[in-house]
Amino acid sequence: ILQIKNLEKGFDQTTILNNLSLEVKKGEVVVILGPSGCGKSTLLRCINGLETIQNGEILLNGENIRESKQAMYAIRQKIGMVFQSYDLFPHMNILDNITLGPVKAQGRKKEEVRREAEQLLERVGLLDKVNAYPRQLSGGQKQRVAIVRALCMHPEIMLFDEVTAALDPEMVREVLDVMLELAKQGTTMLIVTHEMSFARAIADRIIFLDGGSIVEESEPEMFFTNPSTERARKFLDVFT
Ligand code: ATP
Ligand code: MG
Repeated sequence: ILQIKNLEKGFDQTTILNNLSLEVKKGEVVVILGPSGCGKSTLLRCINGLETIQNGEILLNGENIRESKQAMYAIRQKIGMVFQSYDLFPHMNILDNITLGPVKAQGRKKEEVRREAEQLLERVGLLDKVNAYPRQLSGGQKQRVAIVRALCMHPEIMLFDEVTAALDPEMVREVLDVMLELAKQGTTMLIVTHEMSFARAIADRIIFLDGGSIVEESEPEMFFTNPSTERARKFLDVFT
């Protein structure tokens, strides 16, 4: 569903991503691991069209994201992204936060979207917050709303960039559980996380990124019990 071919991305003179190729199949859950600064966020931002790229191609369902402005706009709507900092609109209640995109950008009927939003909120245990404002929610609740908001656009793939990194430990679980549930339902996901046991549980495939390229790519069991590179072994040592 997603194909990245020979991607090169740098800022000024520094290369951040170097000739990186990666494919994600429909229904697959791919987790990206790697040391701080290795380019994980940059990679997700490139996929979502938030960064310019120097070389290479990014295709979603065979369509080039950078073909044209219209293509970019259309394709971006098929990519759901959730960041570390929940970027809900503070002056809008939860329902409006969720329905804004589908109604304004996709031209769907408000009533239909509202029903869907309520169903999704119920699934993540937040139906009672439908009229609340973001400031009235905990970090974990806001992050679950951010996930619902992305899902409500019916994306083909969901990108998650350290969505639990800013949360208090007791709220991490509730967000990870929502993601595990999505995985079970066959949602295609590309996840950046520092939660190793979660990565191991959710991933179909682990990508280990270092120095701007993929150093190792393997099944989670393999990666966590017997990584094939020294760099991955060193990286994992920190977490054990
Ligand atoms: P972390 O695990 O800490 O989130 P990361 O793997 O997500 O790290 P990126 O945020 O992708 O890392 O950053 C990769 C590199 O690119 C870093 O060295 C960073 O300093 C650099 N970088 C990121 N954004 C910019 C920018 N807008 N301008 C210049 N350099 C940038
Ligand atoms: Mg990052």
